[in-house]
Amino acid sequence: MTDPLEKEKTKLKKLVRELGSIKGRHTELVTVYVPAGYNLNEMINTLRNEQSTAINIKSKAVRKNVTAALDKIIQYLGNYRKTPPNGLAVFCGNVAEKEGQTDIKLWALEPPEPLRARLYWCFQQFDLRPLEEMVAEREIYGIILIDRSEADVALLKGKKIESLFHADSLVPGKSRAGGQSSARFARVREGLKHDWFKQVTEAANKIFSDHPEILGIMISGPGPTKEEFLKEELLHAEVKKKILGTVDTSYTGDHGLSETVERGQDLIRESAVVKEKNLLQRFFMEVQKPGGLAVYGLDETVNAVNRGIVEEVLASEKVEFVEIEYECHERKKIYAKRGERPQACNECNRAPVVIGEKELEDALMDASIQFGTKITIVSADTREGQQFLAFGGIGGFLRYRA
Ligand SMILES: [Zn+2]
Repeated sequence: MTDPLEKEKTKLKKLVRELGSIKGRHTELVTVYVPAGYNLNEMINTLRNEQSTAINIKSKAVRKNVTAALDKIIQYLGNYRKTPPNGLAVFCGNVAEKEGQTDIKLWALEPPEPLRARLYWCFQQFDLRPLEEMVAEREIYGIILIDRSEADVALLKGKKIESLFHADSLVPGKSRAGGQSSARFARVREGLKHDWFKQVTEAANKIFSDHPEILGIMISGPGPTKEEFLKEELLHAEVKKKILGTVDTSYTGDHGLSETVERGQDLIRESAVVKEKNLLQRFFMEVQKPGGLAVYGLDETVNAVNRGIVEEVLASEKVEFVEIEYECHERKKIYAKRGERPQACNECNRAPVVIGEKELEDALMDASIQFGTKITIVSADTREGQQFLAFGGIGGFLRYRA
């Protein structure tokens, strides 16, 4: 499926990682967040004010760097006529490796989701929290928290729990009021319980089918009600497929939801690992099958992507690939691991002059959007992930052989 948003988020994840690794020598890295819908000129005014207070910075070098960073940001914001739809994040500062040197760099991003934070911040590191949250929100899990008296159906987005359904039940406890026959009481109680389960199921089916991006669902609650609930088998098949398992809690309601998240971490971790293992096992199977629908190796994979026959690219997080553009007697491109350099040309014998270098994902962006190619990063934490590294750390599933 073509999902430019997913691609944007992969890019975002990379940027967050890159910026997170930068540490200023001094308090001289500037972060600016312009929220969606915020007046850009007002932000520029804020920065001009900050610039005028920057003269109070004691160290001359730091003062110079902060002022220069602010200059650069103000100039950059001046390129926009108005705030982009999702806002704008700008990072700028001196990243020179040696003390006393100056190398003011600027990164800017129109985030894939609306930015809510407004921020000017000058520190030794960039403030990445709003972007980190966006990255984390990619992973959504579902929760059904249920006992005899209360239920919640909730989504877990990154670290945020959002309850979308809450209800209290009328199912009485096992002890009955005097006067009723115990058989009749049990029947009534069973009936009420069944209605209760149906009510919760309806909400869960609706909420979870509205969110097909949910990666897994946890069923939680104190006591055996959650198991009884599962036994009734009322959930849609599509929903049931995503159940990761059950989690015991001491509470219902908000407390119970937090407990579910805390105690369910292992379930979530396992499910991500299992998914990745399955994906790679499928890949190895295709590779070994004669005429199988898989490709591996850097050039082979890039080629296939550009021809539009790749359904999904798999790339190991352990290897960084780049596209290098260079010139000898003519302009050329090669794909390589970061750090590798083009060989001397055997046609003209001239030493290659590198013109530019792009991350592979950026180099593949156009083709992958055009052909709807998904790019999946896999870890090297599993045995399969290690085995994949032995295949060069890059490959893909083909739609067909051509
Ligand atoms: Zn040449």
